[in-house]
Amino acid sequence: MSDLLSRTRAAVWHPCTQMKQLEAAPPLAIARGEGPWLIDPDGRRYLDAISSWWVNLFGHCNPRINAAITDQLGKIEHVMLAGATHEPVVSLSERLGRLTGLGHAFYGSDGASATEIALKMSAHYWRNAGQAEKNGFISLKNGYHGETVGALSVTDIALFKDTYAPLLRHTVQVPTPDARLAEPGESAEACAHRCADALEAHLAEHAATTAAFIVEPLVQGAAGMAMYHPIYLQRARELCTQYQVHLIADEIAVGFGRTGTMFACEQAAVRPDFICLSKGITGGYLPLSAVQTTDAVYAAFYGDATARGFLHSHSYTGNPLACRAALAVLDIFEQDDVIAANWLKSAEYTGILAEVAAHSRVRHFRHLGMIWAFDVADATPGFANRFHRAALAQGLFIRPIGNTVYVMPPYVTGADEMRGLADGILACLVNPAV
Ligand SMILES: *Cc1c(COP(=O)(O)O)cnc(C)c1O
Repeated sequence: MSDLLSRTRAAVWHPCTQMKQLEAAPPLAIARGEGPWLIDPDGRRYLDAISSWWVNLFGHCNPRINAAITDQLGKIEHVMLAGATHEPVVSLSERLGRLTGLGHAFYGSDGASATEIALKMSAHYWRNAGQAEKNGFISLKNGYHGETVGALSVTDIALFKDTYAPLLRHTVQVPTPDARLAEPGESAEACAHRCADALEAHLAEHAATTAAFIVEPLVQGAAGMAMYHPIYLQRARELCTQYQVHLIADEIAVGFGRTGTMFACEQAAVRPDFICLSKGITGGYLPLSAVQTTDAVYAAFYGDATARGFLHSHSYTGNPLACRAALAVLDIFEQDDVIAANWLKSAEYTGILAEVAAHSRVRHFRHLGMIWAFDVADATPGFANRFHRAALAQGLFIRPIGNTVYVMPPYVTGADEMRGLADGILACLVNPAV
């Protein structure tokens, strides 16, 4: 096992990591997975409380997803999607269309490539509509939409962005309705209205040069699970329609039931012009992302001129194995009535976490669907790392963001496992070294 750790340091460049820190804090070596559990080479088990970076829905080594991929392996593993098509990609596109109310799924591999696709499609739409000057983008303060150069331009996390500022396109960030930032005495709803007013003020002046407003619906994940009132999305939808700017819903993290509905936008009864999907789409099995849009946008690309088409591609677009994993995920949602079951779990697990919510170090305890988060009032520099290590000792895989601790477990996590999670978090909170 120590051999694996020295080999990983010698050969692998780990994501989102200052590699030198691995000297003192080696990564967890994982040999197997089972339901919500990660298992190391010595058989020690860790609860995957953050669903392996928010992608896992139905546990590791899920028999139904395994079976679907295995079946597909015996047919065709991959064929390019330009000039060819196949049953898995067609079925998945049909089903995603029914679920989102948006048509024609365009596929990428990662969340960031979905963001790139949506931004390019939006700007290209306006160009095809004879309004090429509408090519600017707006996003929320503290928003996260991925880290490739285009996606990073609409991301607003200084640690990820500042270093690459010279490479990025200028975009505008409008105030976030993050309910934690409400003014004294202001409700979450009033905070959302105030921020929507700020969006309106910006659009009133700049709509003529703006293609789209991209937003994480209801929860800004990388900002630290910042949650906000759904009225903001309703107002954003109305304003985008009024000022003729596309609304791009980045449901990469919140889609597929995470917030309690299949898509977070449903809780505001909002239909965006574009939806970006990834992460949970394959249950955490294979990289896949999709962008869907309205028939009106699609129609603006349809014509005789090649350059009017959306000439964007990735080698693995619509990979059959990934599509089969996604179809198996949708089957599980249907067969197990997952959304309804999760509402019950959400309420029960919030009760299980009540002692955490009431702890004296905890501020802004919040939850939505299968996401729980809180801020630690007296966190000092290095808190996230210390909490992470302390949680590992409790058999929990948790990675706080700054002073925010969050859990986002796979949906198959049981009540007993949640009780263990709550006890483990409390043990970390009372640990004087954390
Ligand atoms: C994770 C995430 C992305 C980027 O997805 P990757 O697969 O990591 O590129 C984009 N938007 C949101 C909201 C995300 O949470």
